Amino acid sequence: MANPPNQRIERSRRAILDALKQSFPATRQELSRRTGLAPSTVAGIVRGLLAEGLVHEHAASDHAGRGRPSSRLSPRRPPGHLVGIDFGHTHISAVLASTAQEVVAEGRVPLDVDASAGNALDQAAALVADLLDRTGVPAGSVLRTAAGIPGPINQETGRIQSATILAGWAGVRPREELTDRLGGEVLIANDAELAALAEHTHGAGRDVSDLVYVKASHGIGAGLILAGRRYTGAYGASGEIGHTLIQEGGAQCRCGQRGCLESVVSIDEVWRQLTAAGLPLPERPGDLSLDALVDNPVAARIVADAGRSIGRVLSDLCNALDPAMLVIGGELATGGDPLLEGIRESLRRFAQPAISDRVRVRSSALGPRAGLVGALTLAATESTP
Ligand SMILES: [Zn+2]
Repeated sequence: MANPPNQRIERSRRAILDALKQSFPATRQELSRRTGLAPSTVAGIVRGLLAEGLVHEHAASDHAGRGRPSSRLSPRRPPGHLVGIDFGHTHISAVLASTAQEVVAEGRVPLDVDASAGNALDQAAALVADLLDRTGVPAGSVLRTAAGIPGPINQETGRIQSATILAGWAGVRPREELTDRLGGEVLIANDAELAALAEHTHGAGRDVSDLVYVKASHGIGAGLILAGRRYTGAYGASGEIGHTLIQEGGAQCRCGQRGCLESVVSIDEVWRQLTAAGLPLPERPGDLSLDALVDNPVAARIVADAGRSIGRVLSDLCNALDPAMLVIGGELATGGDPLLEGIRESLRRFAQPAISDRVRVRSSALGPRAGLVGALTLAATESTP
């Protein structure tokens, strides 16, 4: 048998505990939706967790008075603090929070993160030290730190595995480097994966168990939640949809191939097209916010075109995975309706009707904080590898 029953129960038990640690209080129904497990399985496992004293139950305060009140569950959590760090391409942000994920302090420094891994890691450690200093929280109180990195991380070696996607970090082992600088337990994940985790536990995708988060920024990456779990792939390189061929013989991409999705669509490319159309823009593409611009029909068309290209690649991904929701984040997501409509148009054209009729396309609910919230969520989940 592929899955002996006790192994399956252990996996389900872990999925429920993780889901509860990531976001609570939660009803049994919410846990079932988020983990993709049957309500009867959730009920049985929760009974065991209550008996073991790992979770506690309390009546819902917002019950409207109809039917049986659905009581809510919370994990028993230890005292102490958690740290989340988000390495962007042009900034580092960090958050210090309680084990219940209540934010104590938050900070951000602008930095060319790609240029030097050593410098970026030093700056991150300084930022965390500053948060602890400002709040008087002793370093020893931090139980766990989780950090998001904008590149693929080899799951076996822990090294940044691409010399082209995050050049200044190739071969670096961020977990060891941050452990040396911060002490305590450190977890590392790809930034789009963490944003997917955040949207699934606290944002747009709370009621689904299968979603794809798309980070449309300087590059295009995706994070996957499948059957209620963060999916990294066998070697940690899942979701690199930015390097899908979309234009035969097109522009040279930073990965060495020609005509990749992100050589056609990125915040920099949209900025270049808007500039060529004579629209008033900020000096740097990273400061571009599209929401004020898309009232202009030329800008709306450029943004919708970008959406259609992203949607072309997402159609293939949807045909393969059948997710319930696509959550669009990153600076390009400020393109709002024209961007989402462009994506939907491609889905209608290129995805199977059974999929394009059902899959929901939403903007990120957490915006630029999705990666940071995801890092904190991961730090709250002890048993995540
Ligand atoms: Zn490429």
